[in-house]
Amino acid sequence: MKEEVSVYEDTVVLDAGDGAMYAGSRSENQVYEKHMNLSITKMIGGGDYLTKREIHVVYTREDDNITFTSQVKDLKRRIKVAERADADYFISIHMNSSKYNDGASGFEIYTDNRNKDIAALVKKIESSLTSLNYTKNRGIKNTRESGQLYVIDNNPVPSMLIDAGFISDPNDFTYLNSRKGQKEVSEAIGFGLLQHLEDKNNKS
Ligand SMILES: [Zn+2]
Repeated sequence: MKEEVSVYEDTVVLDAGDGAMYAGSRSENQVYEKHMNLSITKMIGGGDYLTKREIHVVYTREDDNITFTSQVKDLKRRIKVAERADADYFISIHMNSSKYNDGASGFEIYTDNRNKDIAALVKKIESSLTSLNYTKNRGIKNTRESGQLYVIDNNPVPSMLIDAGFISDPNDFTYLNSRKGQKEVSEAIGFGLLQHLEDKNNKS
C-alpha cells in the first residue's frame, strides 16, 4: 500500500532580489525590478502549491523597507537568513536587463550544481517555466563558469537565482509586470518545486 505523503519537512528560503535603495534594473517606463521581484516571490510563497503542503517558507524580505549600509552586507544578511532557517533550498528571484529593445529576452537560471538534488530541482523549475511559453529559455547557467553570484557562491544552502526575463524587453516586461504573468510564473516555480519534493519523497 502506498502511503499518503502530506507532510514535508522541507524549508525553502524565497529571496526577492534587490530592495530599498538597491532597486535593481528598471523598465523603459520606470518600473523598478525590486517591485516585480517581490511580487513574484510573495506569490510563490503564498501560492497553492506551497501553502497546501507543509513546506516551510522563509522570506529574506517581505516589503521594501530594509536597512542595510551596503549591498554586500545585505547579501550576507540574506545568506544568514538561509543559514539560520537551516533551509533546504534558497531561491532568488530577479529580472535580467540589457539595452532597451535590443532584442535580448528570455529567462535563465543560475546555480552552482553543487549536488544532484539542487541540479534536479533547477531542471524541474526550468521545464515548468519553459512550458509557460512566455519567452525563450536561455538555459541553466553554472555560476562557476558564468561568473560569480554572491548569494549562490557564498551560500551554505544549495541555491539558485532565477532571472525571470528581461525588464528591458517589451514583451518580457509586459508579461512579468502583469498580474497574470506574475501568477503564472510563480505557479510554475511552485509547481516545479513541489514536483521535485514529491519525487524525492517517493524515492526515499
Ligand atoms: Zn536584480
